[in-house]
Amino acid sequence: MNAVAVESRLQARLDALAAVTEPGEGVTRPSFGPLEREAHALVSDWAREDGARVETDAAGNTVLIYGEGEPYLLLGSHLDTVPAGGRFDGTVGVLAGMEAAAQVAGELELGVRVVAFSAEEGARFGRPCLGSELATGASPAGLLDRLRDAAGDSINDVARATGLTPEACEPWLRAPAVAAYLEVHIEQGLVLEHERVRLGVVDVIAGADRLAIELTGYAQHSGTTPMAGRRDALAAAAEIVLDVERVGREARHGVATIGRLDVGPNSPTTVPGSVRAVVDVRDVDAGRQRASVEAVRAAIDAVAERRGTPATVTSLASRAPVMLSAWPRRALTAACADAQLPYRVLPSGAGHDAAVVAHTAPAALLFVPTPNGRSHAPDEACRTEDIAAACVVLAGALRRLDDDAAGAAALPDPEQEG
Ligand SMILES: [Zn+2]
Repeated sequence: MNAVAVESRLQARLDALAAVTEPGEGVTRPSFGPLEREAHALVSDWAREDGARVETDAAGNTVLIYGEGEPYLLLGSHLDTVPAGGRFDGTVGVLAGMEAAAQVAGELELGVRVVAFSAEEGARFGRPCLGSELATGASPAGLLDRLRDAAGDSINDVARATGLTPEACEPWLRAPAVAAYLEVHIEQGLVLEHERVRLGVVDVIAGADRLAIELTGYAQHSGTTPMAGRRDALAAAAEIVLDVERVGREARHGVATIGRLDVGPNSPTTVPGSVRAVVDVRDVDAGRQRASVEAVRAAIDAVAERRGTPATVTSLASRAPVMLSAWPRRALTAACADAQLPYRVLPSGAGHDAAVVAHTAPAALLFVPTPNGRSHAPDEACRTEDIAAACVVLAGALRRLDDDAAGAAALPDPEQEG
């Protein structure tokens, strides 16, 4: 297929997927919801038209089999979105994977598959990458009943309503059956755009800690309660927000954010009696990530003590930074060079399915530019020509990995890979 045909097919498929959404601005396909399933059905139909066979696991991860046999090369990403999100986050990786797989499957010794993971976005249940965790066996026990969405429904409840049984998912994604995993994703930042390069090869994916804080103050009449002696949970939270910002600033390559506050009773004439907040700490260095989390916890304790607003802190998720495997990364950089496409090596501040997969199989991640740097928003943008360039690089990388595997007595051990 020539470049123009690839671009117009990508464009048509992006348009069709963007139409699978709740009403309103942007694209809304909540994790484990019926619209996510509809998107999976749509890509399954397209894959069958290309001659692929389709399998779906109990967690709703859809596997499109373009080339049978084991070991196999795996491509992919996800199809769920945050509320009022963009049309490229996740979908680009699934569609680019399908293009590359359709192109090379017939030429390779290794099998070729594309996975559309379910439930990658953490927006609904507070924890990201649920589908890839279930596929790799990394899902902590009890999690599927414990985590709940804003409506109070557990992951199991929500998933069962669409016919899935995530708790019954048998882990399948691991070496040596999976020789390597390659994911294309939008950068969601401005590094590639500022440096005017078409593609980015990710070396490390930042780790992330998410802490839930509950502050307990004392709700009283705002007109009759003197300032002295108040136990204002929101004033305490305000100090903590600034402390978290300071920790993030001091971390140099790390970030720390409070993006959510729930105030109780949230009334204009009552001293706030309770606040729930979520802290998000990320870093590409595991030691600094731990130090930042310790600093945030110490700041919360100090404010709670001084203001008489007791705090409880619970960890919702804790993931260390992940170095991606040298073998598939080298295949991507070599394929960029073969195609004379300028690239740069960069870290990823956002988490991705590739970081989960990297624990059980060699994994690599290729970024395409996001022209305005915006993502998780309706005006998220991405150029179709850049996605088409990523397809060329993916196809080249698949051929190189296949050659390497044929030349090696045994496939590289992911534990020995840098
Ligand atoms: Zn994504």
